[in-house]
Amino acid sequence: MLLTISTTHQPATDLGYLLYKHPAKVQTLEISQGNIHIFYPEATEQKTTIALLLDIDPIGLVRNSKGPSGEGFALEHYVNDRPYVASSFMSVAIAKAFSTAMNGTCKDRPELVDEKLPLEVGISVLPARGGETFLRRLFEPLGYEVSLKAHELDSSFLEWGMSRYFTVNLKARLRLRDVLSHLYVLIPVLDNDKHYWIGEHEVEKLLEKGEGWLKTHPEQEQITRRYLKNLGALTRQAFAVLLPDEEITGEEQEELPEEVIEKRKTLHEQRLIVTLEQLLKSGAKRVLDLGCGEGKLLRLLLKEKQFEQILGMDVSYRSLEIAKDKLHLDRLPTKQQERIKLIQGSLLYKDKRLSGYDAAAIVEVIEHLDASRLTAFEKTVFAFARPQTVIITTPNIEYNRKYETLAAGTFRHSDHRFEWSRAEFKTWASNIASQYHYQVEFLPVGPEDAEVGTPSQMGVFTIN
Ligand code: SAH
Repeated sequence: MLLTISTTHQPATDLGYLLYKHPAKVQTLEISQGNIHIFYPEATEQKTTIALLLDIDPIGLVRNSKGPSGEGFALEHYVNDRPYVASSFMSVAIAKAFSTAMNGTCKDRPELVDEKLPLEVGISVLPARGGETFLRRLFEPLGYEVSLKAHELDSSFLEWGMSRYFTVNLKARLRLRDVLSHLYVLIPVLDNDKHYWIGEHEVEKLLEKGEGWLKTHPEQEQITRRYLKNLGALTRQAFAVLLPDEEITGEEQEELPEEVIEKRKTLHEQRLIVTLEQLLKSGAKRVLDLGCGEGKLLRLLLKEKQFEQILGMDVSYRSLEIAKDKLHLDRLPTKQQERIKLIQGSLLYKDKRLSGYDAAAIVEVIEHLDASRLTAFEKTVFAFARPQTVIITTPNIEYNRKYETLAAGTFRHSDHRFEWSRAEFKTWASNIASQYHYQVEFLPVGPEDAEVGTPSQMGVFTIN
């Protein structure tokens, strides 16, 4: 996959200063998905072109399980377009190779940073979901002159029609840093395939890279939605900043088949119901919902009289606000209001506010924590808060195989830092139990498959 950027600004070799890349050198950088080679096919005072060649390692992608999800067919893990097209990997490469330029820093030619330069961008293969029209609607409002070459699916079988792949040439007089930001955001938007780096911080990245142009872009909504890959909560967060005056409506539309969305929903409901059952069974009166998100479990807890005190905690203020809204906390009768409290806090730090509770539910949260911080989490929960009962659920990675034809990659879009097999979860949970003097019992969550188990797994810890 090749990206080129050329200028005819005089002297054109200034491009090397702006990008912090010496025209006489070939440089190779590593990213986790492969290598980036940077070189200059031409470097004269009249015209200079820098090339970024992205050499994706498809086997490595599968090994690091960062590759495509295998939605279509069994070999798709290995046989796919990722190594050959501009995708979110290209954004990763641009950010890695040209970070200084993107930040608008240039030691040797500071005056050029804010100068609009005659620039030309070549993208050898860009998948454009939404076709030529959408591609033009993304770049033209930003001032680009767009020329395209559409590619057939197969030149020996013209009746198969055109593919979604284009060779793209963009010309504009713009600041270089803006061009890099446009490419960083818009390439994955056009590709609209799985992005392997979606997480909370993506909202910040989008807002940072979109500064100065995204708010006024006519396709702002599509760009935001696709960049965040239709992730409801993240997209809402971004819209909340981009469109502060507009109402943020419920769930954003997801581009998944109905039945997949339905299945995912019911799985989550099942998880919550099993959790609720275990909390009821424990006899707990004072309960914690740690990493409560938008308050789905809290809603169920409020309905049960057994729970006299309910505390929801989350690190995300935005999620807590949504929870507060969804639960109509402001409108509850005083007695009900006194039963529930929402607080912002992190499970990675010991917190006095979590003491004195009978039980804690931690539903689909641990996989959002960096594996290296799990020990801190364990201390917070099992040593300091130390409720009689702790209920933890997390995905069972073995079950991902079952999603092959449907929601493959269901877990990949979210902010998961790891996913565990049943054995891995058991080992981790059993070690904690023995270290902190709890007993642990394991429960399946969701429909059981003889080979790979259930989609989610639960550990119920009780003090010995
Ligand atoms: N338990 C909820 C939400 C699960 S999503 C449910 O089942 O619907 C994971 C949640 O964990 C998110 O709301 C995220 O903000 C929260 N989270 C991630 N890291 C956290 C941390 N260090 N401390 C507390 N919450 C955290």
